[in-house]
Amino acid sequence: MDPRAMVIAFKTVASPKERKNLSVKIKYLLIGSAALFFFLGLATVMLITAVIGSLGVGITSGFRSGAPTAFAVSDIPAQYLPVFLKAQEKYGVSWAVLAAIAKVESSFGLNMGPSEAGAVGFMQFMPGTWEKYKQDGNGDGVYDPYNPWDAVFSAANMLHSNGFEKDPEKALYLYNHAGWYVRKVMAIAFQYSSAMIPPGQGMWPLPSRYISISSGYGMRLHPVLKEYRFHDGIDIPAPAGTPVFAVQDGRVAWDRSKGGYGLCVVLNHGSCTTLYAHLSEITVRAGQEVKAGEVVGSVGSTGLSDGPHLHFSVYVNSRPCNPEEWLAVPSGNY
Ligand SMILES: [Zn+2]
Repeated sequence: MDPRAMVIAFKTVASPKERKNLSVKIKYLLIGSAALFFFLGLATVMLITAVIGSLGVGITSGFRSGAPTAFAVSDIPAQYLPVFLKAQEKYGVSWAVLAAIAKVESSFGLNMGPSEAGAVGFMQFMPGTWEKYKQDGNGDGVYDPYNPWDAVFSAANMLHSNGFEKDPEKALYLYNHAGWYVRKVMAIAFQYSSAMIPPGQGMWPLPSRYISISSGYGMRLHPVLKEYRFHDGIDIPAPAGTPVFAVQDGRVAWDRSKGGYGLCVVLNHGSCTTLYAHLSEITVRAGQEVKAGEVVGSVGSTGLSDGPHLHFSVYVNSRPCNPEEWLAVPSGNY
C-alpha cells in the first residue's frame, strides 16, 4: 500500500478507536526499529574496535620504514602492501624489509615451493623454523605458511626475536645464512622506502618536563577552525620561550613564517625532514648545519594556534609520518 494512501486512510476512513490502535502499532514499530538500529550500530562499533585493537597491539620499538616509494607501489602487488604495513605496526620490523624478503623468497607468492631444501610458503620457512616462530596473522585459528598474513607476521616475529631493532642485518643473516642474501634484501628494501630510521633515536624536541601530547597525529577537530582536518604532526604544550631542540643532525631548510604554522623551522636530515612550528623566535638561519639537541628557536603561539605549544612534524619523501614512531619520549629522569 502506498504510504500516502495509508495516511489518507488513517485520517479519513479509520474510526477514532481504530486510529488509536494504529497509532499504538506505529509507535511500537518505531521504538522497535530504533532499538534494532542502536544494537546493530553498537555491534558494528564493537567489531571495528576489536579488529583495530587486535592489529594495533604490539611492540613499539624497532627499525621501521617510511612511506612507500613510487617503485614500491608499482613493484609490490597492491593486496600485500597492507600485510607488510600491519606487520611493521605490530612487530616494529620495517615493512620494506618484509616486502623485500617476500619478493626474494617467493616473488610475492608466485613460487611457494616446497624448495629443494624443503622451505615452504609465502616467506619460504623451513618446517622447524616455522614451528618456532609461527603466527596466526589473519586470526583464523590456523597457522598456514602459505597464507601471506600468517607468513609475513611469522617472519616479522622471527626478525624481532632475533634483535632486528638493534641490528637489522644480523637478524636478516639469521633468517637466511648468506651475506649476499642480506645485501640483496636490504638493497630492495631501500628501493621500497628511502628511509629506515630506528625510532627512539630522534631526540625529544623540548625539555623533558614537556612530554604530554595535547593533539596527536591524524584526523582531528581543528582547535581554531573547528572543522575536521588531518593533523600532520603532534602538538606539545609548553610555556612561551621554552627552547626547541633539533631532533637529529641536519641542515636548516626554512627559517621564517609559513601560513598556519606561523614562525617555523624546517630541518633537512637527508632521509627525512622535521618541522617545528608556532615558534616565538628562530635562532638558526637557512643553510646552517645543526647538531641533534641544538636550540633552533623558542616555543610560541604564532600562526593558527590556540596557545603556546610546539607543533612538530616528520616528513619522509615529502609525506607526513607519525612523529611518535620516530622520537624517544624522555623518561623525565633527567
Ligand atoms: Zn599541530
